[in-house]
Amino acid sequence: MLKERAHKILRILKSTFGEVDLNEFLAFKVALETRDPFETLVATILTQNTNEKNAFKSYFSLKKKFPKITPSVLASSTIDELSSLISHGGLGYVKAKRIIEASKYILKKFKGDLSTILKKPLEKARTELMMIPGVGPKTADILLLMIANKPTVPVDTHVMRVSYRLGFIAKNAKYEDVRRKLIELFCPDKRLEAHLYLILLGRRFCTARKPKCNICPISEFCAKVI
Ligand code: SF4
Repeated sequence: MLKERAHKILRILKSTFGEVDLNEFLAFKVALETRDPFETLVATILTQNTNEKNAFKSYFSLKKKFPKITPSVLASSTIDELSSLISHGGLGYVKAKRIIEASKYILKKFKGDLSTILKKPLEKARTELMMIPGVGPKTADILLLMIANKPTVPVDTHVMRVSYRLGFIAKNAKYEDVRRKLIELFCPDKRLEAHLYLILLGRRFCTARKPKCNICPISEFCAKVI
C-alpha cells in the first residue's frame, strides 16, 4: 500500500539523515526561533529561487540592519535599500518589492498582525494568506505548518520532484495535487517531517540531474519514475 510505503520511506530517511539541522532550513529556523509569522514570511520570500546558503546571507544582512523585522519597519524602506541587503543569489529587487508590498498590505488589512489569520481554520487561513502580495501556496503552507501547527504540507521543487520519482504523484501534478496527496499519505503529526526529509532526500540523493539511485537509502522502496 502506498501509505505504508510512504511511512517506511520516511522512517528510513529519518534514520539516514538524523536530526534536522536548522542551519539548512532558513524558514524553519526563523519560525522555531522567533515564532513570528511576519519574520517567517520574509524568510520564506528570501528562500525563493535561491539556495539556503544565499537565503541565510540575505536574512542575516537584513537582520543586521533591522534587528526587528516588522511590517511597519519594512514598509517604510525603499526597494533599493532592501534589495541591497537581500541580493545574495539574485532577484534582490524582485524580492524587495514583494516584501515591501506584503508589508504594506499586512499593515493595512491586518494592522501588522498575522496571528488572527493563523487562528482561522486551515483552508480559510490559507486563502487569506494567499491574498497577500508575494505570498503563494508554499509560503502560506510554511506559515500554517511551522507557526500555526496546521496539518498541511508545503511543496517546494525538491518535494515536487521527489514525490514524482517515488511514484506518489502523476507527471503533470500541480502544487495542489501534490499537497493533497502528501496530506493523504502522511498523518498530521508526520507532515512537518515529511516536508523536511523529502527536501533532504532531494538535495542529497534525488538531485534534479543524475539522481544517485545506486547509493540512495530508499532505493528499494522507490518507484524510480525518472
Ligand atoms: S532511488 Fe533514485 S529516484 Fe528514487 S528517491 Fe532515490 S535517488 Fe530518487
